[in-house]
Amino acid sequence: MSDWPPVYDDRYRPAPGSRYWFKDRERQDPEAREQGILGKIRAVMAWAWERAPFYREKWRAAGLEPGDIQSLDDFRKVPIVTKEDLREDQAAHPPFGSYLAIPREEVFHIHGTSGTTGKPTAFAIGRDDWRRIANTHARIMWGFGLRPSDTVFFGSFFSLYMGGWGALAGAERLGATAFPFGAGVPGQTLIAIKWLREMKPSAFYSTPSYGLYVADKARGEGIDPREFGLRILFFSGEPGAGIPSTKRRIEEAYGGICLDTGSMAEMTPWMTNAECEFRTGMHLWQDIVYAELLHPESRELIPFGKEGVPVYTHLERTSQPMIRLWSGDLATWTDDPCECGRTYPRLPKGIYGRVDDMFTVRGENIYPSAIEEVLRGIRGVGEEYRIIVSREESMDELVVQAEYRGEAGAPEGLRREMETRLRAVLGVRTTVQLVPPDQLERTEFKARRVIDNRNLFRELTTR
Ligand SMILES: [Zn+2]
Repeated sequence: MSDWPPVYDDRYRPAPGSRYWFKDRERQDPEAREQGILGKIRAVMAWAWERAPFYREKWRAAGLEPGDIQSLDDFRKVPIVTKEDLREDQAAHPPFGSYLAIPREEVFHIHGTSGTTGKPTAFAIGRDDWRRIANTHARIMWGFGLRPSDTVFFGSFFSLYMGGWGALAGAERLGATAFPFGAGVPGQTLIAIKWLREMKPSAFYSTPSYGLYVADKARGEGIDPREFGLRILFFSGEPGAGIPSTKRRIEEAYGGICLDTGSMAEMTPWMTNAECEFRTGMHLWQDIVYAELLHPESRELIPFGKEGVPVYTHLERTSQPMIRLWSGDLATWTDDPCECGRTYPRLPKGIYGRVDDMFTVRGENIYPSAIEEVLRGIRGVGEEYRIIVSREESMDELVVQAEYRGEAGAPEGLRREMETRLRAVLGVRTTVQLVPPDQLERTEFKARRVIDNRNLFRELTTR
């Protein structure tokens, strides 16, 4: 493919009245799109084959090379890459791994994982890729309804964390006014509220936990978050914005629309999973990052309507291209039409869990997002909660600690209602402990709400 990698015109912008950035690409017939995807897969594989020993060795061991890929069915034979593979390769070939497929001097930005669980992974993003990321994110944010007349407030970390930077690049390219406020400094949330009130940005970006926290804090100061006048709120980093009752809470609190976005930092442009203004679940922008949903064990492609693990392939990245990266997330997908007219498939329930986040209580598989969906859907329940799994005798016990709303104490019957609804949804008995507002610790980043104490019990009893 001679026109790969693609180069975008940085001056291009659609007419403000247009619903689409690239109308023909976004509404393309899915079969015709697959032909284009195949061409890009062959191009990115050829690029990686020549420049990245990581892929060359992996594919040689599997007995294939880029020229063998004549169809998307052939592509399903290409070995899967895991995050563990990337970590091991970076340890053996520091600092960026042997999958850095551009010269070192062309690296424009270095980012990485926080490294709170295991050794951090370094992301190297090339200068040309950064432009493509900005163009891609602008295109997708246009689909939120964001226009050059908007001002976007970023309540996210500007650090190694890729989220805020990717969103910022997109807003800048779209022509909006960027307001990179940041997060994480003590006392910053109160200052954020002051600025939101004064500057009246029309759009807001953070993690969903932080979005709820800001609203809560504002109310605590006697300020209605609707006063900010936010029209569009978009989130990444956690599943929350795709959980219906959390989405409703955010929309009710701010009076704007709440959109769920995000695949993985490794997959930047991570916004190729994103809802449109109609909020029917995240579209998969398949002509930029190709997503397959695979069965968690057999790793076969699963049909629309079923649950699987998204596996992603970069179609427009030259620096550290990811080719069949296993996400470990869980989602279902559909090709049902969306009101927006885009022909991309969707994840109607977003990414509702990670294979790793799931825990088992008395034989039932439980996803934290299912608990969140129940709690946020009950009016008297406050914003923060914890899920505690422990063991009494030899039985697992599931305890949910949640704040109630209001100063007057927990409403009559609230605990019973929560326990009944949780039991109906989860299939196991749950004990609810209600605590007053503001008792549980808040987060400005990704919340850690599941505490598994079962090992502690095991240790105490086997001593
Ligand atoms: Zn749509």
